Amino acid sequence: NKFELLGLNDALLQAIEDMGFESPSEVQEKAIPILLQQETDMVALAQTGTGKTAAFGFPLIQKIDTNSKRTQGLILSPTRELCLQITNELKNYSKHFKGLNTVAIYGGASITDQASQIRKGAQIIVATPGRMQDMVNRKLVDISSIEYCILDEADEMLNMGFFEDITAILSHTPAEKSTWLFSATMPKEVSIIAKKFMRTPVEITV
Ligand code: AMP
Repeated sequence: NKFELLGLNDALLQAIEDMGFESPSEVQEKAIPILLQQETDMVALAQTGTGKTAAFGFPLIQKIDTNSKRTQGLILSPTRELCLQITNELKNYSKHFKGLNTVAIYGGASITDQASQIRKGAQIIVATPGRMQDMVNRKLVDISSIEYCILDEADEMLNMGFFEDITAILSHTPAEKSTWLFSATMPKEVSIIAKKFMRTPVEITV
């Protein structure tokens, strides 16, 4: 099993077997060993359908400290649909990890319900930028000690006008963290975000 060579632990390898994934995709093969071994920033050029969710999801899950309930990972994604999709995938990947909670935060649904899910403890939050910024402002969520921040479909988020929200959200996160940016294309706005918030990212392209 080629997944074993990437450095994934038994709980993840079991989930991978349950899902019937036979071998890692290109982006997974390139990203996973680096993200597991190094605390580094990364810019990955990858389209949807390449298996990018697992490329950041597997290393993120493996790095979460399940003895703590504090929020450790934040994934920003452009739409509610994508947010729910990522959340479902992460729940599947982490089903053999006891005490790992992933919560989805997105607009058009009850903020009270989402806040109460967060209060129960969410080591991973998957959020759309607008609702996330709203909840940060209202102090319904604490991202002051996250260690991993993933910007998924960064080009799409910026196309949708989320530059200000993303900037505001990131300003509430610690400087000392790893940022992983995934994007299908690299327009100027994406490079601006990368320059502003990342330190010598490893770059991979698939
Ligand atoms: P994504 O690009 O993350 O949206 O993934 C596209 C689809 O491929 C999802 O339904 C994943 O569950 C599936 N997938 C991801 N990695 C693999 C893999 N290594 N082998 C088979 N299917 C995969």
